Amino acid sequence: MKNIAVLGSTGSIGTQTLEVAERNGDIRVTALAAGSNIALLEQQIRKFHPSTACVWDEKKAMELRENVRDLDVTVLSGMDGLIAAATEKEAEIVVTAVVGMIGIRPTIAAMEAGKDIALANKETLVTAGHLIMPLAKEKHVRILPVDSEHSAVFQSLNGEAGNKIHKILLTASGGPFRGWTRERLAGVQVEDALKHPNWSMGRKITIDSSTMVNKGLEVMEARWLFGVEMDQIQVVVQPQSVIHSMVEFEDGAVIAQLGTPDMKLPIQYALYYPERRYLPGARLDFAALGQITFEAPDMEVFRGLALAYQAGKRGGSLPTVYNAANEYAVARFLKKEIPYLTIIDMIAEAMEHHKTVEHPSVDQILEAEQETYEFIESRW
Ligand code: NDP
Ligand code: MG
Repeated sequence: MKNIAVLGSTGSIGTQTLEVAERNGDIRVTALAAGSNIALLEQQIRKFHPSTACVWDEKKAMELRENVRDLDVTVLSGMDGLIAAATEKEAEIVVTAVVGMIGIRPTIAAMEAGKDIALANKETLVTAGHLIMPLAKEKHVRILPVDSEHSAVFQSLNGEAGNKIHKILLTASGGPFRGWTRERLAGVQVEDALKHPNWSMGRKITIDSSTMVNKGLEVMEARWLFGVEMDQIQVVVQPQSVIHSMVEFEDGAVIAQLGTPDMKLPIQYALYYPERRYLPGARLDFAALGQITFEAPDMEVFRGLALAYQAGKRGGSLPTVYNAANEYAVARFLKKEIPYLTIIDMIAEAMEHHKTVEHPSVDQILEAEQETYEFIESRW
């Protein structure tokens, strides 16, 4: 039996994590947390019987508490509740599948409590990687990547203990607007951007994939996870999403992980590492596939990717500004309040305006986040 806590259990990664747990039958779910979807959270509580549940929204938490009165579960709310769910004493692995920078504090709290982290919440590493990675070492906890590209790199490094990475080749599908011009992108509507060609994901990451900001965040995530320089990470567009990422070693050998686009594979791999388990679903059929093609990303049209390299190379609090501006802009775009290309303008201007703080503490990261929101609000 393995005990896990799932933060963001009602989302795309959260629900797939619970599917993996249910199918395997030897995982106990001891804590669940969500933002406001108490209808689904209640179903999950009734199925998995966690001892702790958290709903960010205080009112919804009260409602849920009433609805599950017949069960032996403590329903908490807010950041204190999220941290309590992340540190629930029986959990060995905490799956961080909340969306956004809200994941920083609970992730740190879980690590301090000695839990391994199955990390989906890339925003945490992007903004606080310089704090998270040393903490993992100090507390002897593992950060097991759930993001498919990072899981692919992680799998490609198996059996390579000590061998230096020459380069990480991070693959990208290119999103729904691959090959488009800036002029054409200007007219993109929310509905267009929510259609990803290969992966079915939450709304925010789907928009991020369309702008290639997701890939930018992933470059920064990879830099911390695998201890390489930004320049050692190259983005390769591979529209079929068959190669999930690759590692080039010093002798020029390239090791890759391939598969169908199914997040249950990296989720299950993180939960059972280093063991592989049977996973039902479609398999790669190379003859039917015919070919796998490659191209370079267009960093002029997809400026969000170029800005990520700039933020990651500068480091300090600048990646936080990149991420916070994007979170804010995407939320506004999803509400149809700003045009598509304004997402990237907001990131660029917020980065330009910001005075970078070196090695920011958690408080300084959250201050930089707040300042970024205020700057954008004053400007747009
Ligand atoms: P979703 O939007 O589908 O789910 C987000 C989850 O977080 C929901 O359970 C939501 O609850 C919960 N949540 C939101 N705000 C809060 C809060 N304040 N407190 C507690 N819980 C909260 O996102 P995804 O599953 O797509 O993505 C989650 C993370 O994983 C992101 O960081 C993303 O970048 C990363 N990721 C996702 C992939 C995917 O395939 N989806 C692939 C690789 C990485 P509620 O439902 O109640 O709002
Ligand atoms: Mg990914």
